[in-house]
Amino acid sequence: MIFDVPTTLSPSRISSFENCPLQFRFASMQGLPQPPQVHLVRGNAVHRALELLFGDEPAARTQARATAALAEARAECASDANYVGLGMTGADEDAFWSECARLVDNYFQMEDPSTVAGAELETWVEAPIGRVTVRGYIDRMERDGDGRLVISDYKTGRAPNPNYEDRAMAQLQVYAYLVREMRGEMPSALRLYFVRDKVRIDRTPSEQSLRHVARRTTGVHDAIARSCETGVFATKKGPLCNFCAFRSWCPEFGGDPARAADEAPLAGRPR
Ligand code: SF4
Repeated sequence: MIFDVPTTLSPSRISSFENCPLQFRFASMQGLPQPPQVHLVRGNAVHRALELLFGDEPAARTQARATAALAEARAECASDANYVGLGMTGADEDAFWSECARLVDNYFQMEDPSTVAGAELETWVEAPIGRVTVRGYIDRMERDGDGRLVISDYKTGRAPNPNYEDRAMAQLQVYAYLVREMRGEMPSALRLYFVRDKVRIDRTPSEQSLRHVARRTTGVHDAIARSCETGVFATKKGPLCNFCAFRSWCPEFGGDPARAADEAPLAGRPR
C-alpha cells in the first residue's frame, strides 16, 4: 500500500477524484498547499454574509442588513490567510468587494429571505456509505410551507448548462442521503442558488437518486483504494487544468509527480 486509504470523504472530495485522480492525490492524499484562488475566496465571503443575514430573525433580513453582514464578512477576512494571500490592494480590492455586493444583491432578486422560516445554518452531517464515512456542512436547511425539509446551497460561479445540472446537483444529493440516514426523513427538495446568474436549480430527491449516491460513492472509494494500493492516480486532462495548482508536476504538461512533495511547499513562498 503506497498511501493509506481514506476512511472519510466529503462530497467535494468525491467530485475531486472524479474530476482528476492525480489532482486528488496532490491535494487530498498528500495535502500539498495550493495558492488561494480569488473565486473561492469571493464565494466564502458571500456565503459568510448570507450566513450572518440568516442568523437574524426573518423580519430583520433586509438588504440594509445584508450590506452590514457583508461589511462584517469583510472585517473577518482581514485575518483570513486565503484572503490576505491574494495580496489585493486599492482598485483590485474595491472591485472584489463590489462584486461580492452585486452577488448579495442578486440573491435578493431570487428570494425574499424574510419568507424563509426556521432555517438551520451550516449543519454538520455525517453517515457511512459502504466502507467510508461521508461528511460535510449544509449551507441551509428549512421547512417549506407544507412542513417538508428543503436543503439549499449557494453558488457564486456560473450556472451550468442544462446538460450539467445533475452533475452540479451531485453534492446536494449526497447531503440528502446523509440527512435521510441521520434523521430518517427524506428531504422534499434540493435547491442550488447560482447568484451570479440569478438561476435556481431544483431537484426532488428519490429512493432511486439516493441509490445512485450509494453506488457512486462506493465506486469512487473503491477506485481510490485501488490507486492507494498501486500508487497510480490517473490524469484527466481538461478545462480544469487551467485552474490546477499542480500543473508543474503533472505528466500531461511535462512534469514529474514525484517532485511535487518537495517543490510545491516552496512554490507559494514569497521570493
Ligand atoms: S493539470 Fe490537469 S491532468 Fe494534471 S493534475 Fe491538474 S487537473 Fe489533473
